[in-house]
Amino acid sequence: MTEAPHPQDQPQPHDPVRNPWRAAMRRALDEADRAAAAGDVPVGAVVLAPDGTPLATGHNEREASGDPTAHAEILALRRAAAALGEWRLSGCTLVVTLEPCTMCAGALVQSRVARVVYGAPDEKAGAAGSLWDVVRDRRLNHRPEVIPGVLEADCAARLTAFFRHR
Ligand SMILES: [Zn+2]
Repeated sequence: MTEAPHPQDQPQPHDPVRNPWRAAMRRALDEADRAAAAGDVPVGAVVLAPDGTPLATGHNEREASGDPTAHAEILALRRAAAALGEWRLSGCTLVVTLEPCTMCAGALVQSRVARVVYGAPDEKAGAAGSLWDVVRDRRLNHRPEVIPGVLEADCAARLTAFFRHR
């Protein structure tokens, strides 16, 4: 009889849709931790170039900057556009720890990103499938692909811990 392996030693479940985005989501989680350290709700984002290279990162800075639009996604999109030298982020992927709100979903459509990958759903304000589906609204002519639930438990745990300690 062999001893059961420690849960953390077990191989990741085979998930060809989500597993390729786990490394980028870990980076977004690092950004989320930066937000929390500054007293902001822990949400972090990374924009990947079409070849998967990280272009820009962002984390929620509403409290730190006093800016109601300083969501992680908005800051990461602006920085990615600055890095590319144009507003069109065609072929790029935005990876974010929490399902985007209506403002960020609108910005994602405007930026023409190819794909939105998120961790935890936001049942109260999510605009990428939970409450609304702005990014995949068939009335819009650009509709990014959406991949939900990447490292969902880790992303949700950040938020739960943050609100518990407030
Ligand atoms: Zn937002």
